[in-house]
Amino acid sequence: MTRKIKIFDTTLRDGEQCPGASLNIEEKLEIAKQLARLNVDIIEAGFAIASPGDFESVKQIAEKIKGPVICSLARAKKEDIKHAAEAVKPAEKSRIHTFIGTSPIHMEKKLRMTPDEVLKTAVEMVKYAKSFCPDIEFSPEDAGRSEKEFLYKIIRAVIEAGAKTINVPDTVGYTTPWEFGELIEDIIKNVPEIKNIDLSVHCHNDLGLAVANSLAAVRAGATQVECTINGIGERAGNASLEEIVMGLKTRKPFFNVDTSIKTEEIHKTSRLVSNLTGMLVQPNKAVVGANAFAHEAGIHQAGVMRARETYEIMTPESIGLTESKLVLGKHSGRNAFEKKLNDMGYTMEKENLEKAFQSFKRIADLKKEVTDRDLEAIVAEEIYVAEETYTLDKIEIKSGTKVKPSAKLTLIVKGKKKEAKESGSGPVDAAYKAVQKIVGQRPKLVDYTIQAITGGTDALGEVTVRIKKDDRIFTGHGAHTDIIVASVKAYLAAINRMVSV
Ligand SMILES: [Zn+2]
Repeated sequence: MTRKIKIFDTTLRDGEQCPGASLNIEEKLEIAKQLARLNVDIIEAGFAIASPGDFESVKQIAEKIKGPVICSLARAKKEDIKHAAEAVKPAEKSRIHTFIGTSPIHMEKKLRMTPDEVLKTAVEMVKYAKSFCPDIEFSPEDAGRSEKEFLYKIIRAVIEAGAKTINVPDTVGYTTPWEFGELIEDIIKNVPEIKNIDLSVHCHNDLGLAVANSLAAVRAGATQVECTINGIGERAGNASLEEIVMGLKTRKPFFNVDTSIKTEEIHKTSRLVSNLTGMLVQPNKAVVGANAFAHEAGIHQAGVMRARETYEIMTPESIGLTESKLVLGKHSGRNAFEKKLNDMGYTMEKENLEKAFQSFKRIADLKKEVTDRDLEAIVAEEIYVAEETYTLDKIEIKSGTKVKPSAKLTLIVKGKKKEAKESGSGPVDAAYKAVQKIVGQRPKLVDYTIQAITGGTDALGEVTVRIKKDDRIFTGHGAHTDIIVASVKAYLAAINRMVSV
């Protein structure tokens, strides 16, 4: 019989912790909705005690998202657990995930507690969490570097206290597949009670082994895997959901397990997370990279044309990568536009839909065919923005080899037009200086990337910027066939987010 592996998605908790990925509540809800469509078993929606914003987003996800279990992280502390319990309470199915360090280095240096004190706290806090919610997950933090005998002891004790899932994290990404698989086997051997509950793993990618370690754990008997979309997360990130799921699916005879993931939603989810976090996906990334299904080499192309299996171990369709037949153009109406977005899985409020439609019309005037990827860029730009304090009215650029680049631009600020003219080292520099002059602030530009969305010189350029103010990072997107306009739109989107907090 095939075993079922539960997929625990922590994009909104561990993934969101990585520098620059911070999301606002609307964006988190949008991702949670898509995770529900992807059919993950559990959504770790956040760390409720971390901030009022975190608490509120976990709560709203618990209220609005149906299907998956909604979970909040909590340290093994009463205050944490109380906050987590309150935040997940509205959910159809809720879970509290509590943790405490069990490696010698974590106990001594971070917690300043003896092993006995750690054990006692873990048991008490699992029982305390249990008084709010029946579904409790416990993690011995840094399990990969913990002494095995102590690990068995604490796992046995928290199961007795009522934990329903034991999660074994490799917090620092130090272990290897052989060791990690063995650790999982040893836990199953030495704590037989674990067979009645879920045994989970949570791997980090510091040595590029997060997915390999997770798969080794599945082979060894783990029943839940914690992962993130596109593998985002602190440092080198977490195990990537799409790689684990497609690994298990593509090599099913080898693993003999199933997941409940609707793999056709993978591509869309990856795009959404990348758009909203501003964390771009490398082109050669397994499963979701832009080149993952591109067969450029002539010899491969010939093979793929004759029979796909020659070089293709998975089909693009299996992750939802289909070139849609319905391409929109300048004569497409509002209904066709809305239907297309719905087909692509986007649902929008009326007002945002109208804005996206206007934006589509402007693009369609400049570009013959508007593709799915173009639409994704338009959607990313139009619907996930903060209140628009500043909007671009018009811009004129002078640049070239023998002129000093300059920009003259007009912004609409609270219904009034404001104009500025600046010069710079290039047209983007000049335009950004003009924006700064009107806004009266100079946030640091930490990241600027530009991508051509489709081929051809009339392609839509998508610019992603990240700006920094007081240690907070704000992301903005802009898409346009003119890359200077796209650049200014992206910068304004980031500034609008900055001034809205
Ligand atoms: Zn982690």
